[in-house]
Amino acid sequence: MSYVITSKCVGTCDSACVDACPVSCIAGPISVEELRSVAANERGARFPGLQMFIDPDECICCGACVEHCPVDAIYDEGDVPTEHRGDILRNAAFFRR
Ligand code: SF4
Repeated sequence: MSYVITSKCVGTCDSACVDACPVSCIAGPISVEELRSVAANERGARFPGLQMFIDPDECICCGACVEHCPVDAIYDEGDVPTEHRGDILRNAAFFRR
């Protein structure tokens, strides 16, 4: 079990979760530095479809990231809403490319 970032992250990609994670298991398709070089309110348009992911093999399920997400995109794997269950595999797949 791990925590999962759902597609609710898309369009916001705040990235505060990255700093909150004690084991550095949150990443995305571009570096956090590049992401943060664009104003938060412009990221959705600049990086369409972009979101962060949690590595399920490294996550220690501490839950520290959850409260830092401004769009409530992060869930314990067992609590992921039905409409976002596919995001569980998407998170894992990102780290197995
Ligand atoms: Fe990192 Fe903890 Fe969030 Fe897992 S639950 S991604 S270990 S902050």
